[in-house]
Amino acid sequence: MEDSYRDKGLRKQLLAELRQKGITDERVLAAMDRIPRHLFVDSAFKELSYRDMALRIGAGQTISQPYTVAFQTQLLQIEKTDKVLEVGTGSGYQAAVLAEMGVRVFTIERQKELYESSKTFLPKLNPQYKIRFFYGDGYKGIPAYAPYDKIIVTCGAPYIPEELIKQLKPGGKAVIPVGEGEVQKMTLLTKNENGEIHTEEKGDFRFVPMLENKAGNGF
Ligand code: SAH
Repeated sequence: MEDSYRDKGLRKQLLAELRQKGITDERVLAAMDRIPRHLFVDSAFKELSYRDMALRIGAGQTISQPYTVAFQTQLLQIEKTDKVLEVGTGSGYQAAVLAEMGVRVFTIERQKELYESSKTFLPKLNPQYKIRFFYGDGYKGIPAYAPYDKIIVTCGAPYIPEELIKQLKPGGKAVIPVGEGEVQKMTLLTKNENGEIHTEEKGDFRFVPMLENKAGNGF
């Protein structure tokens, strides 16, 4: 698990780029500064790991572009006391960013291989991380630990999954890329104390699709 001076230097440059592109939440930037992204990608892509780009991680999936990770996390206005649900564990990088910010993370992945590898890797990277890993269908959320203060979906959802909205706490926020096909609208949902949902669109992004019904949820 080497994190060399060169890696750290490349990370600083990436952070400068994220600031330039409009990321202002210092807590998000500080978390990303501490996480060795090169350890989340296949060694063949190590050289590209501090470029602001998505990379392949196996099982036909990708680790999101750093800007996208920063942008989604910033939209959630994370507080240390938050309990966060993530749909699409993938490489575990986004979960690590959240855990590094001090929150409790419940993350769900439908690809067994990715679920297994993140579940093994993240506790080794930092045994302090408060992350629980689930293998199952993110459309159903993780009702056993609901409600959540924040929900983040890291795959492109064809529509807003009803169950996820149910599992959001009043006063909570969810960020979901919504749209069928290639491009999704980054959608920020806020639930008020009466349970009403307010929706804002925050620009176009590209995600791998949120797919249904592969894994049966074991809960
Ligand atoms: N957050 C990840 C991004 C991975 S890409 C990271 O930081 O690396 C999105 C992930 O969502 C993929 O791993 C894909 O398998 C997963 N996914 C797609 N549909 C899903 C579903 N219905 N439930 C859970 N995970 C899903």
